[in-house]
Amino acid sequence: MMGQPEVAARIKKSYRHVDGVFNPHHLWRFPELLYTVLTTGKRVFATEDSAGAIAEGLPVVRSNNLKAWVSIMYGCNNFCSYCIVPYVRGRERSRRPEEIVAEVKELIAAGYKDITLLGQNVNSYGKDLGLGVDFADLLGELAELPGEFWLRFMTSHPKDATKKLFDTIASHEKIAKQFHLPFQSGNDRVLKVMNRHYDSAQYLALVDYGRSLMPGLVLTSDVIVGFPGETEEEFEDTIRLIERVRYDALFTFIFSPRPGTPAAKMDDPTPKEEKNRRFDRLCEVQNRISQEIHQAYVGRTMRVLVDGKDGELLTARTEGGRLVRMTGPDCLLGQFAEAKITGCTTWSLTGESVL
Ligand code: SF4
Repeated sequence: MMGQPEVAARIKKSYRHVDGVFNPHHLWRFPELLYTVLTTGKRVFATEDSAGAIAEGLPVVRSNNLKAWVSIMYGCNNFCSYCIVPYVRGRERSRRPEEIVAEVKELIAAGYKDITLLGQNVNSYGKDLGLGVDFADLLGELAELPGEFWLRFMTSHPKDATKKLFDTIASHEKIAKQFHLPFQSGNDRVLKVMNRHYDSAQYLALVDYGRSLMPGLVLTSDVIVGFPGETEEEFEDTIRLIERVRYDALFTFIFSPRPGTPAAKMDDPTPKEEKNRRFDRLCEVQNRISQEIHQAYVGRTMRVLVDGKDGELLTARTEGGRLVRMTGPDCLLGQFAEAKITGCTTWSLTGESVL
């Protein structure tokens, strides 16, 4: 992580052949930094925080003409004890809403149909702007734009997820009914040591509220197994939470220390083999749940966005982001279509187009 001052200092001292290091905030200065190196022969180290500035209008190269990702904010203020992001990305800085609206309008006009708003914690969007616009307001405004598209977002910190946000998702057809809400652990002591600022009851209350408005809401999450000091009983709380929520899918991680974070200095007496065993058990539980949820899709006809080909089959995504491999004509590529789900595995669905 080059934005971390101690890493930049180490590179400066130990890797004399490196001409320069810059913080991701300074990407917009790359031509100038490169010019300096080429014309003066001096090494450049631009690692300081850019203190609130966001460079707008940089050209964006997009690898796909159907799906687009739009950064709405940068940085993070949360300092979860295991995470290096706040140290390397600096404090939260939100883009102005009119810049985001203009970018999304351009994407819709260019034919993009699946647009994901990005931030380390989108739920704190706007707090630094002082405009009285929060993330739900921004999302609602974008969802009112004309055109045929799905709007998604990630990532959300549960401590900042509001009922207003769920209300906004429920009331706009173009906002995908999918929510990635990382819980990280089902145990309150571990959550506290992780510095997450919510407990399992608050997390579950959010999930219940979301599902009361949108029974078909697709939930996904991140979870860390083997956080320093996690006991077997505390791990079982995580399993209990997974069984209670029943996520469509989970992004699962075994704790890995990030130098420079508080968690990297914590006592971690649990042997690696034990962490691996917990991880395998968690995956077993989640795979069963994913399979059961996918099985319940079979027989349904769903709207999908056809995004590619896999051999003879089309590939598509449901509104909830589930992968569908389906039969159908190539003319559906890049289009919304109706698919009848005919089968499933733990990780994907199979189907056929309904014309
Ligand atoms: S885990 Fe997410 S919310 Fe927590 S510090 Fe890292 S980026 Fe911020």
